Amino acid sequence: MLRGLFGKKSVKKQASKKAGRKPDAAKSKATASKLDSRVKQSAASKPKTQLNKPLAKPKKVWTPDEYVVAPQEGKTRFHDLGLQDALLHAIADLNYEYCSEIQAASLPTTIDGHDFIGKAQTGTGKTAAFLITIINDLLVRPIPEDERFASEPRALILAPTRELAMQIDKDARSLTKHTKLSVYSVLGGIDYQKQRDYVRDHKIDILVATPGRLIDFLNSSDLYLDQLDFLVIDEADRMLDMGFIPDVKRILSRCPKVEARQTLLFSATFNQDVLNLCKRWTRNPIHIEIEAEQQTTERVDQKIFMVAADEKLEIICRYIEKNDVKKAIIFGNRRDETRRLEAVLKQKGVKAALLSGEVPQHKRIKTLDQFKSGQIEILVATDVAGRGIHVDGVSHVFNYNLPEDPEDYVHRIGRTGRANETGTSISFACEDDAFLLPELEQFIGMKLNCEYPDYLLDKNN
Ligand code: AMP
Repeated sequence: MLRGLFGKKSVKKQASKKAGRKPDAAKSKATASKLDSRVKQSAASKPKTQLNKPLAKPKKVWTPDEYVVAPQEGKTRFHDLGLQDALLHAIADLNYEYCSEIQAASLPTTIDGHDFIGKAQTGTGKTAAFLITIINDLLVRPIPEDERFASEPRALILAPTRELAMQIDKDARSLTKHTKLSVYSVLGGIDYQKQRDYVRDHKIDILVATPGRLIDFLNSSDLYLDQLDFLVIDEADRMLDMGFIPDVKRILSRCPKVEARQTLLFSATFNQDVLNLCKRWTRNPIHIEIEAEQQTTERVDQKIFMVAADEKLEIICRYIEKNDVKKAIIFGNRRDETRRLEAVLKQKGVKAALLSGEVPQHKRIKTLDQFKSGQIEILVATDVAGRGIHVDGVSHVFNYNLPEDPEDYVHRIGRTGRANETGTSISFACEDDAFLLPELEQFIGMKLNCEYPDYLLDKNN
């Protein structure tokens, strides 16, 4: 069903004039700048050197002709989707050529306004899939400035972790860079007052949020969700695992009804609980599954190192040294272990850093930036902190322990082999966790290569 049929916008925009919401601070700034420009104009009216100034070159307008991608059978080009030029321009800047599988499967219907449920993990291009849907619609249906208010986003993207939310925020900014659309994030753990002031004073088109902080701002009436046109729930399975579902339900109760919004829901796995949520939160959705196995098996060389628990530290350090590993993530199951590992790596002169829940948010952001730029070479992470890491060029993922949940394995090794690169994953299996292997192999649908890396313990080697 097409969204246009609901005719929701004309109804909804009346509601935005509710009492208590602050008009946009930009308005008062706009008045001030109008005054400024009047002052400037009168000064400019005096003929000064202006007359001799060479005329500024007119800015070249970008056209889709500059985005050349040859049609290819079986592939969808972004040109073929009828997207707005400003959005297409940003996609061209990102050097995307063809739609990824989930983009090709979802965009033709989501652009038409259908709800969507996607089984897809990070690395499949799902973030761009939902962002392109939202941005294109916001550009096609602009709302007059005087009908827009602060505190009332038009699209909400809910993500379970701050890292993932920050990545979505970054992607949204890249894709809106040639538009006037505004993007903002409300994230737990940092900048409470700064975020609160911002959402109260600015018109926001796309809001990215983690559930807890968003609820704070809903309760304090700094944010309202009744003007939403889009709701995205990313990593719904993770939301369940992390106990966020009561929060998400509360958030949903503040959103327009399911028939008056477009809902896009993504999850890496679908159990009965996730399916129940899908039923309640979406309306006649299109359901697409992008299989995880394809992604993990095709581009990541997966190895299992059979070792004794007390050999792991030595082996990982030797491997890194011998193979000159410059960009890798080591996942551990426990914080104390990751802490110890980081300390030992540093002692050996490796540029390592820790990324776990116990590291303050500001530090985590800095660490991730340093990892992206190469100042930090080895990131030692726990699952929650490492889940949202989207860094291209990671050559290796090490599993210092096998994760208890096979889904975490898939998420972990998906940090490498991203964006059509190849990568290597090395998982240690020792006397404590080798029993997890059969279940893991069953989950990913393939047998894993097991090796005994004795050569790495040989000091003469
Ligand atoms: P995601 O699954 O959203 O985490 O995206 C994984 C990576 O793929 C990100 O680095 C994106 O920038 C990149 N990406 C998304 N869509 C495309 C595309 N159509 N072509 C090439 N890269 C893409």
